[in-house]
Amino acid sequence: MAMRRPLIMGNWKMHGSLADNAVLLAGIRDGTARLRGQPELAVCVPFVYLAQAQMALADSVISWGAQDVSVHEKGAYTGEISGAMLADFGCRWVLCGHSERRALHGEGSALVAAKAAGALAAGLTPVVCVGETLSDREAGETECVVGDQLDPVLALGADALSRLVIAYEPVWAIGTGRSATPEQAQEVHALIRASLARHGASATRILYGGSVKPDNAAALFAQDDIDGALIGGASLQADSFLGIAAAVS
Ligand code: PEP
Repeated sequence: MAMRRPLIMGNWKMHGSLADNAVLLAGIRDGTARLRGQPELAVCVPFVYLAQAQMALADSVISWGAQDVSVHEKGAYTGEISGAMLADFGCRWVLCGHSERRALHGEGSALVAAKAAGALAAGLTPVVCVGETLSDREAGETECVVGDQLDPVLALGADALSRLVIAYEPVWAIGTGRSATPEQAQEVHALIRASLARHGASATRILYGGSVKPDNAAALFAQDDIDGALIGGASLQADSFLGIAAAVS
């Protein structure tokens, strides 16, 4: 991970309340002072709590972002949130193509790449999520599926690729308590790294996501091509989020 600063990012999904978030955000803030390593820390919160995150984290080392963004700049798109709106609330990050959005909201890889391009244009850093299902893996199609998800993103070109983040999240490991082994994760990260390099991007960070916990994080982070984590369940408690951050040496 030498030249790539580790990134530890929480994805709260559709969890939280003003009261619970206040405790969680304060807990994360307070805990960062005790971290010895220097990972970059971020939380991706539900849209309605962005203002709260901004208030709570404004003068901290923790940055914040959203979990989705409209592909459109503005207009008659009821219920959508634009990249410019996210930037208005100080967002640094936005998740694009989380597997739950691909599976539950029909987002395809071309749309995900277009969202990433729009996010970049709005001054945000997209975190593009890719990953195979269990049946893909069992059919030996992991490389092909992840490659197909990545292709339209690679087509954005070297400049875009150097400004975004990729998250490899095997669907079978998300929220299941069953993390990929460090070797399984590294194998796919190395493939993604090679694809990025072929497209002129050699320093893009690649996060692993899927049941990352304080007790499995260090072994994952020890892999050459794992540059940090995208964390769901364990990001909802300050102790476990910080425990994962502490595993970055
Ligand atoms: C996620 O939501 O991106 C995720 C990886 O969830 P979990 O850590 O709960 O598996």
